[in-house]
Amino acid sequence: MNVPVTGAAVQAEPSFRHSVDMMFNHAVGLMDLPSGLKEKIRVCNATYTVRFGVRLRGQIQTFTGYRAIHSEHMEPVKGGIRYAMGVNQDEVEALAALMTYKCALVEAPFGGSKGGLRIDPRHYEEHELESITRRFAYELIKRDLIHPSQNVPAPDMGTGEREMAWIADQYARIHTTDINARACVTGKPLNAGGIHGRVEATGRGVQYALREFFRHPEDMAAAGLDGGLAGKRIIVQGLGNVGYHAAKFLSEEDGALITGVIEHDGGVFDPSGIDVDSLRSWISDNGGVKDYPHAQVIAEGALLLEEPCDILVPAALEGTIHLGNAERVQAPLIIEAANGPVTAGADEILRRRGKVIIPDLYANAGGVTVSYFEWVKNLSHIRFGRMQRRQEEARHQLVVDEMERIVGAMGNGTTLSDSFKLKYLRGADELELVRSGLDDTMRVAYQSMREVWHRRADVPDLRIAAYITAISRVAESYRAKGL
Ligand code: GLU
Repeated sequence: MNVPVTGAAVQAEPSFRHSVDMMFNHAVGLMDLPSGLKEKIRVCNATYTVRFGVRLRGQIQTFTGYRAIHSEHMEPVKGGIRYAMGVNQDEVEALAALMTYKCALVEAPFGGSKGGLRIDPRHYEEHELESITRRFAYELIKRDLIHPSQNVPAPDMGTGEREMAWIADQYARIHTTDINARACVTGKPLNAGGIHGRVEATGRGVQYALREFFRHPEDMAAAGLDGGLAGKRIIVQGLGNVGYHAAKFLSEEDGALITGVIEHDGGVFDPSGIDVDSLRSWISDNGGVKDYPHAQVIAEGALLLEEPCDILVPAALEGTIHLGNAERVQAPLIIEAANGPVTAGADEILRRRGKVIIPDLYANAGGVTVSYFEWVKNLSHIRFGRMQRRQEEARHQLVVDEMERIVGAMGNGTTLSDSFKLKYLRGADELELVRSGLDDTMRVAYQSMREVWHRRADVPDLRIAAYITAISRVAESYRAKGL
């Protein structure tokens, strides 16, 4: 992990996996579980390393990829595949462990897994990436490390719908008679068995998580906040898929102000609010934030992590809030849209300083939640809403007709408004059902972890509460299996 820490902090900062272990150990220390079971849950069951060659530009290039399986208390195991140069065994194992706890917390019926390929995707043409992805997928498929009932990958950093479509197609070519082939991977494009709302699901989940947090005055008070999301100043680190959608929805739909954005080549700052779409298109046209004309651009973007704001949204890599900067973070509320953005050491500092952290295993669970819906859709071979939508509309029409008849009989000129009828008469389509399922999931999961946080005096924060909630569910599964 390349954490830019300084001085004595270099020695003290644990690795990402160790950081997750420390948080796990803190939580299980407060739980009454047999020590053997604690250890069984903590360890990563298996990590496969594959090295394969692909002939590119006239020569064979060797790539290294991983698939870590953290816990198989439920199968399939689930978790994304990341393409980045920093991918290594420690990282995929930490991320796989987070997947186990994340799935348990949001009641997605999966164990935890994660994959990664050490590659910088920007250095390859699309057809080269396709060859590399298909070959990586083949290596995993032939070992059942991609399989609808055993191990179901999804997008993560550096991958998206395109890569998932290649993986699904590769699986179908090998398993030509598997009727459930499409369920071997999630995050696919719609025309390849994907689901509406998956692309933006993680960002949407961050929005729903914040909305739920702001429904609890006691929790807001713990962060010294009041009121609603409208007008809150938000700084977002990373305007990738997760950060972009979270920032867009929070500013467009909840009235929050995106006052800062941190990207790989600098930061953008505007106290009156940044236009997220305009900044994103600038970044995609120019390769970075440099020279963005509509706000102040700062060369050292990481300094914005330390700028006053109401909510800090780290949505990039792990370890970005560390021993070297945690003392200077000013936001009273941090929501971890990325996996592991706060190291274990920084976590302690922030807790001591009274900051509230909405932890990764909850905050970014929207992605795997909608992946779960996609997997169910693939196994049921039918789009959500296809059977009910028109029937629902017909029943609503009955109600509207009857209300209009009664209102008409009253004879005082009152009628139902057109906007009411428009909204009420429309049956829910797949996107609305996905949003409803995601919203419900995020609310219920928040309530279960906050209940532990407030009920137990020895539970210091939402993260430990989330781990306790998740670990007790995993332990229950192991007990039920007779382990
Ligand atoms: N990569 C995402 C995550 O870290 C999504 C995983 C999935 O959908 O399986 O949660």
